[in-house]
Amino acid sequence: MRAVDIIRKKRDGGELSREEIAYLISNYCQNKIPDYQISAFLMAVFFRGLTDSETAALTREMEFSGMVFDLGSVSGRKVDKHSTGGVGDKTSLVIAPAVAAAGVIVPMISGRGLGHTGGTLDKLESIPGFNVRLSADRFREMLSSVGAALIGQTEDIVPADRKLYALRDVTSTVESLPLIVASIMSKKLAEGIDGLVLDVKTGSGAFMKTQPEAEQLARALVAIGKACGKKTTALITDMNQPLGRLVGNSLEVKECIDVLKGGGPADLTALCEELSAHCLVLGEAAAGLEEARELYRKSISSGKALEKFREIIRFQGGNPSVVEDESILPQARHQKILRSRSAGFLASMDTQAIGLALCALGAGRENVDSVIDPAAGMRLDRKLGDFVEAGEPLCTLYYNEEDRFREAAPRIEAAYALAADPPPRRELILAVL
Ligand code: URA
Repeated sequence: MRAVDIIRKKRDGGELSREEIAYLISNYCQNKIPDYQISAFLMAVFFRGLTDSETAALTREMEFSGMVFDLGSVSGRKVDKHSTGGVGDKTSLVIAPAVAAAGVIVPMISGRGLGHTGGTLDKLESIPGFNVRLSADRFREMLSSVGAALIGQTEDIVPADRKLYALRDVTSTVESLPLIVASIMSKKLAEGIDGLVLDVKTGSGAFMKTQPEAEQLARALVAIGKACGKKTTALITDMNQPLGRLVGNSLEVKECIDVLKGGGPADLTALCEELSAHCLVLGEAAAGLEEARELYRKSISSGKALEKFREIIRFQGGNPSVVEDESILPQARHQKILRSRSAGFLASMDTQAIGLALCALGAGRENVDSVIDPAAGMRLDRKLGDFVEAGEPLCTLYYNEEDRFREAAPRIEAAYALAADPPPRRELILAVL
């Protein structure tokens, strides 16, 4: 077999066999097929798509590219939550400790920032010392002793996703339904979970811009989860504006600590509660959603979720004092308010454009070698539907480099649209599948 023939077959709209997909993935993982050929393959998939059986084969090859956890030795039900990606989408940092504190084990393999979206691993790494590269033994040990672990793909754990994820990020091949399905489900199936809650985002800041597209993605994810014997639930949630008030790696850690302390913005707290409640139901810690929501609220109000977050940080080598002292987190040297040029209701935000402008500000990657500035980001001083007078703040940018600010600021301003009338109210949770 030759990579070039497989690429041509997909480019011309053919259906690949399981053997051809296995050949590409295993040789790519062994560095026997170069990035440039896999980039071409990804672009062919982007335009031609994959059939259901090709998607299932790709998912399985990626899952088994590394070790697949058998967590039989860790007692308790194991449930994870995964989002399809958004801006300011930080719920994992709340859900993992809150659900673990309520008695369900959370083995979480996450990703880095992808395209315009942020990544859990980059956020966690803004905590000084935090190590997302645990060995398989430490991962298991942590699940037994702490009840939750948040790690990344490594050379041993879904290495195919580690390499493909980074390549998709810089070849504009992220927004492909089968590639998203295989990326997410390969990681989740390798975790050894009993249940999975998927947060499928839709709107201007999501990969799936419309609700029907998001539902199609959700159905594909749920079908693979169920076919592999995992209880799987998907929530379709709104991503027409960043979630919460803070966007950027260390800023988002700070906002999650606020939520774990019982505060935080309403949309973020509501979504954390709902996703956690679904995890607790799948984890059989509660008989129904109402009881599960109550369990989540107790986990927060008792301080147990916050204590669990401290334990997670300590076990993974980070400084747990960030929970009391946020000045330990990287801080930007500069802050500048962007003010509205006119009066009106905030009618829409091009959230993808905001995410990309924040990458330019330093909060995300622009190529594989980009180094993230953990302190760069923004505070939303107005959210959709709010009224703003001319001269009042729309948002505040946090940054370290003046030329990056000059590049990002006009792009962020241009992403805001005001109108004379308030926009129709949108639900945060649009459907449950
Ligand atoms: N999250 C993932 O893990 N992979 C994707 O492709 C998109 C979101």
